[in-house]
Amino acid sequence: MLWRFGYFLAWQLVGGALGWWLEGPWGAAVGAAVAAWLWFGGDLWRGVRVLRWLRSGDLSATPSSFGMWGEAAERARRLLRQRQALVKDSEERLQEILAALQATPNGVVLLDAEGRIEWCNQIAAVQLGFDAQRDVMQSIGNLVRDPDFGAYYAAQDFTHDVVLQGRDSTPSRPVRISVHLHPYGEGRKLLLTRDVTALEQADAMRRDFVANVSHEIRTPLTVLTGFVETLQTLPLDAEERARYLTMMAQQAARMQSVVHDLLTLSRLEGSPLPGMSEWTPVQVLMQRCEDEGRALSAVLTQNHHRHHVLQFPAAQDLRAEGEIAGVPSELQSALSNLISNAVRYTPAGGTITVQWRHTDDGSAIFTVSDTGPGIAPEHIPRITERFYRVDRSRSRETGGTGLGLAIVKHAVQRHGATLEITSVLGKGSVFSVTFPANRLRRPALPDGLQPTASAQTALQ
Ligand code: ADP
Repeated sequence: MLWRFGYFLAWQLVGGALGWWLEGPWGAAVGAAVAAWLWFGGDLWRGVRVLRWLRSGDLSATPSSFGMWGEAAERARRLLRQRQALVKDSEERLQEILAALQATPNGVVLLDAEGRIEWCNQIAAVQLGFDAQRDVMQSIGNLVRDPDFGAYYAAQDFTHDVVLQGRDSTPSRPVRISVHLHPYGEGRKLLLTRDVTALEQADAMRRDFVANVSHEIRTPLTVLTGFVETLQTLPLDAEERARYLTMMAQQAARMQSVVHDLLTLSRLEGSPLPGMSEWTPVQVLMQRCEDEGRALSAVLTQNHHRHHVLQFPAAQDLRAEGEIAGVPSELQSALSNLISNAVRYTPAGGTITVQWRHTDDGSAIFTVSDTGPGIAPEHIPRITERFYRVDRSRSRETGGTGLGLAIVKHAVQRHGATLEITSVLGKGSVFSVTFPANRLRRPALPDGLQPTASAQTALQ
């Protein structure tokens, strides 16, 4: 400020001196006044330039000036630069936050105080069926027409979510979307969406499973209790008592099988994936399968005049098939279950053929074919579900639990193998398990070499 005053005085002094030199004292007064006006004009012009520059907002063309106006322009330029950097920084942060919200696996919608969409990510747009760009500033109530959502929004109780039918939902492929509103700011709302189809399905499966288990255990238990009451209350002769006790033993055995299979399933689900360190000779597995299959067939056909025809691969052929990596008890359980099913469902006189063959790509296929009743195509996709049975009475009669194929599927999947089922109703079924090449090794075994004792004991 002092400079400015000094500068103004210097102009007047120079003007006054020039006037004095030209016209004496009057000339000095006129010279000082003219100099003051010139100074004022120049100052005004510099001020107007700075003001015009500020109005334009174009920081690149800062007017070069000195004195107070120069400093004012420089300070304004610095402030504007700082503000611009702040805005750019905020913009970048906003874009990062929006990108993070885009990347979340759940849907996110920002609603203003009037319930209009300010922003939404792609997942929410897909799940709720609107367009992330076109529907901005549209009212959410107009876009989500589900009456359940309307009631939820109107009730303004956002402590819980509401589950709606997804836009792509069809009767065969239902899609369920959970929608939860969270109020924030001044009347604004954050709407979160989540696909809960798998969760709801798992929940329904769990409920079905518990109901099935209770049913499977309760039925024999009710029968057992009935027999116990009969034995307690009625005076029975020795023959009748023996008959009742046999039936009681059958029911107890049935319960035992269900519990055994449930435990096997839960062990399969709970244990770590089979490693590659434990190798079992294919011949050992197949020998055990053969023993079990023949024993079961003998029991089931003991009162028939015809028996099953059981065909298994020859032991010397199996020796050349080498070894398989995995948990021996799980592999055994899977293969035996398939043979047991073939034996149980094939009437006496039918043929059951078991094969093990390797393919050119190094994998191996275990196949059980039977000439039993076969399975209708509509049942095939479901027979590996827990407790799913096509023929309930045949399953029970032969000691089935409805869990056998669920165990097989689980066990083979854990070993990287696949289960394939083909069947012709009235003609028979073929169950094949394909083991991947990495779980098999076929050393050039010299003839007559027997499997190691350790492998034999692993199966005990
Ligand atoms: P289960 O203990 O009832 O045999 P599984 O899970 O082993 O239960 O099999 C499921 C259903 O698949 C059986 O109830 C049966 O109806 C059908 N099934 C399985 N294997 C055969 C087969 N070899 N021939 C005909 N039906 C079969």
